[in-house]
Amino acid sequence: MTNIPTGRFAPTPSGRLHLGNILCAMLAYLSARSKGGRFLLRIEDVDVPRCPRRLAQQCIDDLTWLGFTWDEPPLFQSDRTEVYRHHLDRLTRDGHTYPCFCTRAQLMSLAAPNLGDTQVVYQRTCANLTAAEAAERAKTRAPAIRLRVPDEEIAFQDGLFGMQQENLARDCGDFILQRSDGLFGYQLAVVVDDALQGVTEVVRGRDILSATPRQLYLQRLLGHPQPDYVHIPADNKGTPLPDQLKTLPPNLFSSCAALEQVTLPRGLRDIPAGCFTDCSSLRWFQRLPMGLQSIGAHAFQGCTSLKNVELPATLTSIGGEAFRGCSKLRAIVIPDSVTTMNETAFCNNTSLT
Ligand code: GLU
Repeated sequence: MTNIPTGRFAPTPSGRLHLGNILCAMLAYLSARSKGGRFLLRIEDVDVPRCPRRLAQQCIDDLTWLGFTWDEPPLFQSDRTEVYRHHLDRLTRDGHTYPCFCTRAQLMSLAAPNLGDTQVVYQRTCANLTAAEAAERAKTRAPAIRLRVPDEEIAFQDGLFGMQQENLARDCGDFILQRSDGLFGYQLAVVVDDALQGVTEVVRGRDILSATPRQLYLQRLLGHPQPDYVHIPADNKGTPLPDQLKTLPPNLFSSCAALEQVTLPRGLRDIPAGCFTDCSSLRWFQRLPMGLQSIGAHAFQGCTSLKNVELPATLTSIGGEAFRGCSKLRAIVIPDSVTTMNETAFCNNTSLT
């Protein structure tokens, strides 16, 4: 283990880098370099289907263009399955994990009612299965692997937000280390890689502040040292777009799974095809601009948290599958101004009445 101060930037290449990413990268870089330390780049493409190599390469090219340098070749999480498996096996051998056979639908229906839309504390349905019961269920369904978490407050000092604490059992629940499709979860991968890369300081967006106690608990179980943490008020949320923009590039926010809210430019005329596809946390628009004329195909497809959308009376066209699979969308008023609407615009909306 190195004693040299070591920082890192660890983007998930599910889209192009945005300003929040660049700010994190700059602060992580300056913090490490100002101490004479090392700076590393890690490509967090553990969720391989969401992170094609071309986006990872684009991210490396963009950072290079901006003048960043790193002290080791970039580490790709997608190359490290065996390393994660080894650590998961250790946790399993020590009795910290269990297989979970619950489907997504079961998890949602069992969610504690006082929690938010996207946050579900697992109710430990599979926590006490016998080995024989688990083996029987495994014949028909591959399990996810969960970590048992303690009923205790886990605290840490954040360099900017100060003292933070969370009770994992109450606020988070037993969380997933490996998905049922075999992909390893972000929490395990990040903890393993930070330790093996000798990372001593983590500077990243505040959207991960609340995940840090999970990572501290994993570090404790694996005997890894705890880096210093600084979370900065930049992330995928609420990034203002200039008001004079009339349109946006297609697929601009596609697969930005952490994006929760967007303020669209006042002058926007078109939401192009695929603009918010699979933004599964997107819940709220401060406004859909008055003056908006078209919503492109697939624009909001797979926005599974979107509940209310008010369409302005200037809208004239809604493209195919624009709101497909928006399973929480309850009611929507199509303004009289709409003259072209693809018949698949709202297909697969289970809550729409
Ligand atoms: N990969 C995460 C992201 O792009 C950052 C993880 C981290 O810095 O620990 O949001």
